[in-house]
Amino acid sequence: MNPFQQQAAIPGVAKIIAVGSGKGGVGKSTVSVNLAVALRDRGLKVGLLDADIYGPSLPRMLGALNQRPEVGENQKIQPISRYGIKTMSLGYLVDENQAAVWRGPMLFKAMDQFFRDVEWGELDYLVIDLPPGTGDVGLTMAQKVPVHGALLVCTPQNVALADAKKAIDMFERTNVPLMGVVENMAYLNGPGGEKIQLFPRGELDGFLDVKKIPKLAQIPFYPEIGLSSEAGVPVSESHSGDEQAEVFNQLAARVVAATQI
Ligand code: ADP
Repeated sequence: MNPFQQQAAIPGVAKIIAVGSGKGGVGKSTVSVNLAVALRDRGLKVGLLDADIYGPSLPRMLGALNQRPEVGENQKIQPISRYGIKTMSLGYLVDENQAAVWRGPMLFKAMDQFFRDVEWGELDYLVIDLPPGTGDVGLTMAQKVPVHGALLVCTPQNVALADAKKAIDMFERTNVPLMGVVENMAYLNGPGGEKIQLFPRGELDGFLDVKKIPKLAQIPFYPEIGLSSEAGVPVSESHSGDEQAEVFNQLAARVVAATQI
């Protein structure tokens, strides 16, 4: 049987957006969280699923460490609401170190529960923060639910690009439409307004041109982003109205435009 025939929409959830990356540490969770906040700011109902099973970081970024979801009378898991967003993470359910050893069937079951047994309610968008790379979770997601569009987060240098290409390839193979790439930590704003390159600029732009993949955002390195995620308040929330939030607002506008049917 074609594994994609198992796909079923999540009742009440209009659109699913997946956020992936070639490797860890490039800002995938940061983009997921702030995109969710920026979509909420547009008056949309938003859910955020931390599918980064091997290193769930959303509870920390959302200031929701040690939260435990309740199970309702209907046996559905209640998402944890943070900043007006319904969130779910394996980090709420099991010890971080335990999750790291999950494989195959357990992983498959956990993903299924996230899709079917969480009371997501009515959502305009469910944003899924995938694990880095091209492992089982992305494949499982593609088999289980229809994804309207994926974002790939990467940093500008060639070492990151090699991994990003593999992730793009995975989306292609699993028929997940790639909306575009988010270039993160593209530069640092210098004291005199100059742009300081933190990483050597590689061939990302040339590659995107050839493949006709849009670049949906170019996010500078903002120290406030790191501070905000440590404090458990997304920068789009703590710096609402500032340039740090604006860059995510523009990303959200593009995501909404790209997912209009
Ligand atoms: P990933 O999900 O790809 O592993 P994270 O979103 O956890 O990456 O980001 C890794 C670290 O980099 C975090 O400490 C985060 O706050 C920081 N970070 C991400 N993007 C930026 C940025 N544009 N400016 C400053 N710090 C950033």
